Amino acid sequence: MKKILTIALCFAMVLTLTLVYGDETAYSAAGSGDLTDGTYSVSAAGYSWMGMIYADVTIKDNALADFVVTEEHESYTGEVAQPAFDLMPERIIENQSLDTDAISGATVTSMAIKSCFAQAIEAAGGDASEWYTEIEKKTDTVTLDGYDVIVVGMGGSGIMSYCAAADHGATVFGIETCAKLGGQSATTTGPMILGSKAEAFKDAQFPDMDEVYSTWIDYVGSEEKADIIYECVYNNGEYIDYFIDNFGFKFAGLIGSFEIAEWKELWTRYNSETRNVLGPNKTFQFDNAVAIAKAMNEKNDYMLELTADELIMDESGDVIGVHAVYYDGTEYEIYGDSVILATGGYIGNHEMVKTYLEGPTQTVAFTVSDGTGINMGISAGGATYMLAIDPMIHILQVPNMIRNDDLTPDQKAVLSAFALVADEKKIDINGKDLDPAITHYSDIPGYHYYVVYTQEQMDAYKAEGLTENFAGAMSFFLGQGGTIETGAPLEDLDAILEVGMKYNNIFKADSIAELAAIIGCDEAALSETLGGTETTYYAADCMSYAYATVGGLDVDVNMNVLREDGTPIENLYGVGQDSQGVCNVEGKPYTPWGGQAQAWTFVSGYLAGTSAAASFAD
Ligand SMILES: Cc1cc2nc3c(=O)[nH]c(=O)nc-3n(C[C@H](O)[C@H](O)[C@H](O)COP(=O)(O)OP(=O)(O)OC[C@H]3O[C@@H](n4cnc5c(N)ncnc54)[C@H](O)[C@@H]3O)c2cc1C
Repeated sequence: MKKILTIALCFAMVLTLTLVYGDETAYSAAGSGDLTDGTYSVSAAGYSWMGMIYADVTIKDNALADFVVTEEHESYTGEVAQPAFDLMPERIIENQSLDTDAISGATVTSMAIKSCFAQAIEAAGGDASEWYTEIEKKTDTVTLDGYDVIVVGMGGSGIMSYCAAADHGATVFGIETCAKLGGQSATTTGPMILGSKAEAFKDAQFPDMDEVYSTWIDYVGSEEKADIIYECVYNNGEYIDYFIDNFGFKFAGLIGSFEIAEWKELWTRYNSETRNVLGPNKTFQFDNAVAIAKAMNEKNDYMLELTADELIMDESGDVIGVHAVYYDGTEYEIYGDSVILATGGYIGNHEMVKTYLEGPTQTVAFTVSDGTGINMGISAGGATYMLAIDPMIHILQVPNMIRNDDLTPDQKAVLSAFALVADEKKIDINGKDLDPAITHYSDIPGYHYYVVYTQEQMDAYKAEGLTENFAGAMSFFLGQGGTIETGAPLEDLDAILEVGMKYNNIFKADSIAELAAIIGCDEAALSETLGGTETTYYAADCMSYAYATVGGLDVDVNMNVLREDGTPIENLYGVGQDSQGVCNVEGKPYTPWGGQAQAWTFVSGYLAGTSAAASFAD
């Protein structure tokens, strides 16, 4: 069947385009300037650190007519980029404008697709800067009301809340900014699991729960949130089994703890026939669970590409709903009895990161998690708990991975190795030797350090090759496919360093004073660390990559957001990374057992969903 769209375009003049999607796509349109018809092969760096997006863009009758991906590496990191491939080309073609908004949650891939169209316009003899026709946004407001529970953020914890609330009789509406369900939870390996009775774990040797509980309480050094930690340990299995039994979640295999060697079977993986570098593909599990929950009541619904921005409150300050904006500009006022905040923390909010953390980190996480849920909670009078806990960090790499072809994969591996190598001179942001006692990356001052080399060392690497200690200098899953050869002359070292400097991964200084200025540290301290030797230095920046922030709203054991005076805001809940501070403590890394953040999505989601449903039933 053919779909006919008539779109009013306003470039320099108003034009009419008729697009026919079907076997023989036909266009009757004129774009800005005279473009030469043709199919243009273009490429752009996307999100994946393994390679670029290559595409054929067709231009016909002065209009953008078709976009075909010929090679891409975005699927290396899983399902995150797929909505951009599904929606972005179609929308750019429909709008005939590069002003088309990026797809939320897949911004980098969207921008690469946009760049491909821009390059094709230029190759066809046009001027891409003239193709930014403003896209008119809608201005109407839609009101939805009568919901028992509104869930803000349909990632892991939001979906568990949605399912539990629906199953306990509530009518539920879910708000999700991305064009897909699952959030960051769809990129994880899996949750910590204790005492599950599910078939998949029938032979499991789970750690002793009393031991896990007391280890946890000792770690946070307080019993203030003991009731919540109790739920995380003693009821973890029961709650995860609930989602396995009622919403079709599947897991397979057990993994040992990061930190505690005796806990050999502590966390598990989502079960999937396919996987990507970030873990098993699992969006289908979240889609399936939401479909089951949605079908429980005909009023239940959710919307993608709908971004919540504030709570709606009545005159007395009580929460009565959520305001949100759809990607096309339509405003939504959604009214309900309870609101569950599940937006995944604040790693995407530069201001909050600057205020609460020791410095910015790089991140492999969704930057759509920009603190909206936490700030909504605060706006309703909610308090925060341990907001300044260091973020979850398990990976190091150069800060600006080169995603284009400026270097070959092997050259990228050498560049990264200069930052990741173990036994070279590591200097912290204060110009001192990096404390060798640091075992958690989140304890590194400012979350990054420099590995410093002299010109003499670089000359030796060029003539004789890298030494043996570079052999294992690879990043945990952020490697870029290349390999490092030791002991072979590095004839292309100058080119590697040049590119490294262009992308601010390597800094060159002709004196200690210059290096101190680059690092931003005290010159005398740095001079002492470097033994006062004046020479040319190269500093490779080694940066932490965070998974998510940890601190969030203060909540009680029902996941009700608490005010400063400790009283609950009866109809407001915080789950997932929006409240994970209650399981942790400032000054120590995120509970390092393994899989605890993902387990918290199940535990907090179960508790919030059931509490919210029970409160409306009273
Ligand atoms: C690569 C990677 C691997 C990881 N692996 C593990 C692991 O194996 N085990 C583990 O325990 N932890 C892991 N983590 C940590 C992970 O962040 C948490 O486990 C978990 O996903 C957090 O769940 P959540 O529900 O809080 O956030 P998410 O699942 O990210 O859900 C938040 C949702 O809110 C949406 N949202 C944000 N703002 C808005 C808004 N304004 N309006 C509407 N929607 C909004 C987001 O789009 C998202 O869908 C990993 C993290 C990363 C980045």
